[in-house]
Amino acid sequence: MLVLGVETSCDETAVALYDSHRGLLGHRLYSQVDVHAEYGGVVPEIASRDHLRKLLPLIREVLDAEGLKRTAIGGIAYTAGPGLIGALLVGAAVARSLAWAWNIPSVAVHHMEGHLLAPLLEPEPPEFPFVALLVSGGHTLLVDVRGIGSYHVLGESLDDAAGEAFDKTAKLLGLGYPGGPALARLAEGGDAGRFHFPRPMTDRPGLDFSFSGLKTHALNALAALEGTPQDKADIACAFQEAVVDTLVSKCRRALRETGLGRLVVAGGVSANRTMRKKLQAMAESERCRVYFPRPEFCTDNGAMIAFAGCRRLLAGQCETSAIEARARWPMETLTGA
Ligand code: ATP
Ligand code: MG
Ligand code: FE
Repeated sequence: MLVLGVETSCDETAVALYDSHRGLLGHRLYSQVDVHAEYGGVVPEIASRDHLRKLLPLIREVLDAEGLKRTAIGGIAYTAGPGLIGALLVGAAVARSLAWAWNIPSVAVHHMEGHLLAPLLEPEPPEFPFVALLVSGGHTLLVDVRGIGSYHVLGESLDDAAGEAFDKTAKLLGLGYPGGPALARLAEGGDAGRFHFPRPMTDRPGLDFSFSGLKTHALNALAALEGTPQDKADIACAFQEAVVDTLVSKCRRALRETGLGRLVVAGGVSANRTMRKKLQAMAESERCRVYFPRPEFCTDNGAMIAFAGCRRLLAGQCETSAIEARARWPMETLTGA
């Protein structure tokens, strides 16, 4: 079955074609980052309008590039939440309308399930069960995954998500929006020995996270200095080390507590090279295996939605007549496919 995937939950308009036999055929992404950069963050109303402008042209483009006609499409998957409600509604309305006009099924996909399944698009995909660490702009979740739709949340952030902490700290260091990747680049020239930031909540049991205090540490460190480029690089480095060590420590704990031998890491922050290296080293010492998406599928993309939707459509799931979009949608309420 050839599935068209549509992702519009935030500031990326993304589409992809995934075939259950041939795999990923093509994908396209338009990032609104430049549109929102001058405001220092995503402006929801502008995001919705920009999705509306770009979505149909992108769908045409990906079909043309693959030399496929729309009649080849057997189903449509779209992100129905969580995310910005206006942005989600654009994707949902377009996807549901096309499905209705073309007389094919459509299915609502949970954005975080999309992220979670992205590593399954790689050549050596993980088998179930596994522990998943989802680290994105809006979520930090440790999940016990038994199969598609079978998710037990082991821990989550009590305040800022990991990506959000990267972005906020980047902002106070004077880096642009979104600052995560820029902060990671700056940290490469930093001295890891100069500052030591705490590893929040690692000294007590449990698998929850708290990252908002690290931003305050960065702010205080900066305020006490002149703020030279080297000062900033050293602070970026101390911040990144603290976030990464905290994530690594909780992943190790989750693997030990569940007794599972596979760790899947996904979401925008999983593109971070320092984190990938340290998680890899931890997994080796625990005799476990770690799986990541390719870097371009760490952040939002259409491929993960097409893939997740394909699995659900093949399991017989599809939508009725209502257009569904949910700003909030707890992962544990999902059912199996
Ligand atoms: P959610 O998936 O929770 O709804 P989102 O879709 O906005 O949120 P993603 O697209 O998965 O989030 O990821 C974007 C986040 O990843 C941003 O916070 C960004 O700063 C962060 N990020 C991307 N690359 C890196 C990197 N190399 N190092 C650290 N953070 C990064
Ligand atoms: Mg984004
Ligand atoms: Fe995302």
